[in-house]
Amino acid sequence: MAVACPICSLHRQAASGGSYAMGRGALWLLRHHGDPAPLAGWLLLDARRHLPGPLAFNDAEAASWGLALRGASQLVRELTGCDRVYAIGFGEGTPHLHVHLIPRCTGDPSSAAWAVADLYRAVERGERAPADPAEVAALVARGRQLLASHPVPGIPAYP
Ligand SMILES: [Zn+2]
Repeated sequence: MAVACPICSLHRQAASGGSYAMGRGALWLLRHHGDPAPLAGWLLLDARRHLPGPLAFNDAEAASWGLALRGASQLVRELTGCDRVYAIGFGEGTPHLHVHLIPRCTGDPSSAAWAVADLYRAVERGERAPADPAEVAALVARGRQLLASHPVPGIPAYP
């Protein structure tokens, strides 16, 4: 665990409660994007271990990843009713795997392909309103319920 890693730090906070975490297993943590969230239902699937990306997966992580990624993507669709779910991982700002799972509604051109990066930066700069924190809190609660009733391999409902 890297001392200064903000994602490791988030995971320590999740362990003590009060977070955006929806599911947490031995290998993965699934959470809603924190406030300001670019879109309601924008989730992140993190490796529990401090690793930069799939190149560094051990065999257990490599074997588990597909089912976890599919289940987390299904949860985004279930929570938002979106048409598609983007999965994007750069790991550049923080070299700790955190794949963005982004709800894509085909009627909303502001989230189409690379435009979603402009949307993200506009929210970050305060030029576009973020998702309503109350709506995000409701989605986190709903996500935990759904993970409890429809288990995703590798991502048991938090806590
Ligand atoms: Zn880390």
